[in-house]
Amino acid sequence: MEIADGVFFFAGRSGERLRRGAGSVNVVVVRGEALAMLDAGVTRGGAFHSLRGRMRACGLGLRDVRWLAHTHSHWDHINASAAVQRAGVARLAAPSAEVALIEDPGKNFRGFLTDFGALASEVFPYPSVLARLAIWYAWGRQPRLRVERALEDGDVLEVGRRIQVVALPGHTVGHAGYWIPDAGVLVTGDLIDLENSQGMDLNNPRSDYGMALDSLRRALELEPEILIPAHGEPTVGRHRVQQVLSAALSGGLAYPERIREALGNRVLRLGKLMPAVFPDVPLSMRAMTMMLVLVVLLHMERTGQVQRSERSGRPAWMRVE
Ligand SMILES: [Zn+2]
Repeated sequence: MEIADGVFFFAGRSGERLRRGAGSVNVVVVRGEALAMLDAGVTRGGAFHSLRGRMRACGLGLRDVRWLAHTHSHWDHINASAAVQRAGVARLAAPSAEVALIEDPGKNFRGFLTDFGALASEVFPYPSVLARLAIWYAWGRQPRLRVERALEDGDVLEVGRRIQVVALPGHTVGHAGYWIPDAGVLVTGDLIDLENSQGMDLNNPRSDYGMALDSLRRALELEPEILIPAHGEPTVGRHRVQQVLSAALSGGLAYPERIREALGNRVLRLGKLMPAVFPDVPLSMRAMTMMLVLVVLLHMERTGQVQRSERSGRPAWMRVE
């Protein structure tokens, strides 16, 4: 659908509609003299085929895509990029700090299990071969990609219309959004995720809690008319957009206090702490939510709010008064 003049929104698919677990992301296409595509989604389960059909119905052809720009390196955002390139002449652009991961699928995927270092086994308490198998099963194969343009904050994608790169780190440290000033549209990637979480999306080892808070403030300052996250519905109307971003910010700001309350005067391992902070997390969201709590805990450690010790040889946390 055309959500603003020359800005097209193609809804992602939830996990249930694809063959295996994980879902796909929303794709945005901006029309100037040529097209820019922002994130690509995945190929499997007919997701790419469906995207092509829906684009065609809007009079948009894949061969007119000049730039395919990514918000970050996660699989559900980049998987269909090679297919988009095969269908035309699209060149890839991505935030500079994400390029190496996008170009190296092995490192990109392995990182989910290893980038927490010794703490990884708190999130994935299985033999690593099983965890690898689970990730392979959820994500499948990822073609190798070459990124032609490394983007920095403030860079502009030229398609005969201004699309500005806005660094919005936090979900990953290189994460960026795209700002289309003439339409007041902000494409926020995984800055917030109202489909899989209730606000901030910090559910991976490359997340940084403090950066994500600052990025939410930056998004608020842009005063977008339309907010398009990578997962879930867009928000239309300046006032509503401010409400959504403010709610994510205040929800996020409360995480450390919720963790401190859940800890009380106990020393808890992550597996006990997470359900105390988020009592109603379904099993399918458990690993994701563990990662979120761990990301906030690591921030709290650095800022002296909690302390790590050991319990039966495994890491555990307690409050610092
Ligand atoms: Zn992501």
